[in-house]
Amino acid sequence: MAKKLPKRTVVIVGGGLCAGLVSRQLTGMGIEVLVLEQGGDHANGAETRLPNQRDELRWDQRQGLMQNWQRETYTLRHSRADESLPVRWMEAFLPGEGIGGAASHWNGSTWRWAEYDPTLRSRLESRYGKAAIPADMPLQDWGPSYGELEPYHHLFEKLFGLSGKAGNINGQIQAGGNPFEAPRARDYPLPPLTPILASAMFTDAARNAGYHPFPRPSANASQPYTNPDGSKFGGCQYCGYCQRFGCEANAKGSPHMTVIPIAMRNPNFELRTHSWVTRVLKDRKLRGEKGGEVAKLFAKHFKLEDHVIYLKRTKVGAAVGTPGRIGKLLCETGQLLSSVYLVSA
Ligand SMILES: Cc1cc2nc3c(=O)[nH]c(=O)nc-3n(C[C@H](O)[C@H](O)[C@H](O)COP(=O)(O)OP(=O)(O)OC[C@H]3O[C@@H](n4cnc5c(N)ncnc54)[C@H](O)[C@@H]3O)c2cc1C
Repeated sequence: MAKKLPKRTVVIVGGGLCAGLVSRQLTGMGIEVLVLEQGGDHANGAETRLPNQRDELRWDQRQGLMQNWQRETYTLRHSRADESLPVRWMEAFLPGEGIGGAASHWNGSTWRWAEYDPTLRSRLESRYGKAAIPADMPLQDWGPSYGELEPYHHLFEKLFGLSGKAGNINGQIQAGGNPFEAPRARDYPLPPLTPILASAMFTDAARNAGYHPFPRPSANASQPYTNPDGSKFGGCQYCGYCQRFGCEANAKGSPHMTVIPIAMRNPNFELRTHSWVTRVLKDRKLRGEKGGEVAKLFAKHFKLEDHVIYLKRTKVGAAVGTPGRIGKLLCETGQLLSSVYLVSA
C-alpha cells in the first residue's frame, strides 16, 4: 500500500546541477525542498578514489556515471516521416545519473553569457530588422538583462571555484584576459590553470597572428580553495581524467561537493536517492486540479507586478514562463510558491 509522506513546498525531480543550485538558494530562504534523484551518491565512491578513478573501461567506455540506457532512454527519428526508435547507446549526449548529475563528470568549462545573449531577439531585430526572424522561430529575450544576471554569475564562480583571468572589469580591459567578455564586477576567485605546452604554443602562435588568446575559464581549482559556503577544493592535478570521470583531487566544481552538501546541512532540505520519478500523479485535493489555469508567465509583455497581481487573483494550477521571470516570482516575491503546484521554465 502506498505510504503518504509529509508534503513539501518544493519538489525537484533530479539531483543535478540546477537542483543543487536551486536547493541552496531556496533552503537558504527558509523554503522546504525535497529532491528525488534516481541515482546514488558520487561523493567518496570508487569514481573519486585512486586507482579506480582512472578506470577508463568503467567510467569512459562503459559510461559508469551516465544514465542507464537499458532502463530508460530517448527516442530519435531523423525526419518527420521516420518512426521514432529508442536509442540503445549514447555517444556524445551523456546525461549523468546520481547526485550532481552530469556535472559530477563534466569538464568544468564555464563561460559566462555574452552581454547580448539575454536580449538576442532585440539585438537581431535592431541589426537586421524584424523580418529577419521567421514568425515560427521561438526566439525570445529572456527578461533579465546581463547586468541583472552578473551578480549570479559571480556567485556561481565563487561557489564552483572558477579559475580564470578577467578581461573586462567594470569596462576596463584587463591584459591577459578575454577582451570581448561582458563587463564583470570582479576577477575570478582563482588564477587560471597552468597552461600545458600545447596551450603555450597555441597562445604564442595566436598572439603573433594578431589575435587575443586568453585562458579558458574553468571550474577546476588551480589551487586549494575554500568557497564562501565552506566547501573545500584541492588543486587540479592535470591528470587528464576529467570529462566522464569524477575527480579524485576534489578540484572539479561539482554539485555533490559544493551546493548539495550545503543544502543538506539545512533542516529544510531532504534528498532521496534511488528515487526514480516515473509519473506525476494529480491529487484531487491539490490546488488547481479542477479548472486551474495554466499561467503563462513570460516577461516580454507583462511587468513583474502584473504577474504578482494576476497570481493573487487567479486560480492557477501550473505555470510556465521565461526563466528570469519565474526566478523573480519564486525568489523575490514568493508569489509563485503560494499559487502554483507545477512550474516549468
Ligand atoms: C561528459 C559531459 C561533459 C560536460 N562538460 C561541460 C562543460 O565543460 N561545461 C559546461 O558548461 N557543461 C558541460 N556539460 C553539460 C553540463 O554538465 C549540464 O549542462 C548540466 O549538468 C545540466 O544540469 P541539469 O541540472 O539540467 O541536469 P543534470 O546535472 O544532468 O542532472 C539531472 C539529474 O536528474 C536525474 N534524473 C533524471 N530523470 C530523473 C527521474 N525521472 N527521476 C529522478 N531523477 C532523475 C539524473 O539522474 C540527474 O542526476 C557536460 C556534460 C557531459 C555529459
